[in-house]
Amino acid sequence: MVRVKEMERRDKMVLPGDFLGTSEEFIPGTGVYDHGGNLYASYIGDVSIGSNRVINVIPRVDTPPTIEEGDVVIGQVVDIKDNVAIVNIGCVKGKESREVAAPGQGIIHISNVRNGYVTELQQEFGYLDVVKARVIDAKTLRLSTKAKDLGVIKAMCMKCKRDLKRKGNVLTCDRCKHVETRKLSEDYGKGLI
Ligand code: ZN
Repeated sequence: MVRVKEMERRDKMVLPGDFLGTSEEFIPGTGVYDHGGNLYASYIGDVSIGSNRVINVIPRVDTPPTIEEGDVVIGQVVDIKDNVAIVNIGCVKGKESREVAAPGQGIIHISNVRNGYVTELQQEFGYLDVVKARVIDAKTLRLSTKAKDLGVIKAMCMKCKRDLKRKGNVLTCDRCKHVETRKLSEDYGKGLI
């Protein structure tokens, strides 16, 4: 594992598992995963750092999608509309020993969030949340989080960007005491994929 030095971070080619920096320095974007506050590349690609401190790994080679119906994927919520949450898929669980090249964007429709009626999607997901979801349609990449182990596994405070801690059925921020709700996976905060 090679640390990418400050000067070499931009446009540097990295390999899966290469250390990119810490979550204090950057917000993990596509192709980057967070393990204990350290950020690593998910696949081979070039490092790109956005103006908002979002660090991404851009794949050099387009790997064909290998996602099938029933697969469990890990991704990051990049947009929340009235009826759908858009998820950048980062890896497919169990398919590889490591995460695989980003195959695209999945969609969680409001009807596939949980068993029960959802009135506001903003109460279930937050921007840049890491979610674990099941593929219910591989062609259109429709996803579902309707199971105990599925849902948000990592989230940060909307106000101060700290990792939120689970307290019962809600998430709270240690720093600013902000309380947020999510469709939580039972694996929230365990660092498990
Ligand atoms: Zn906070």
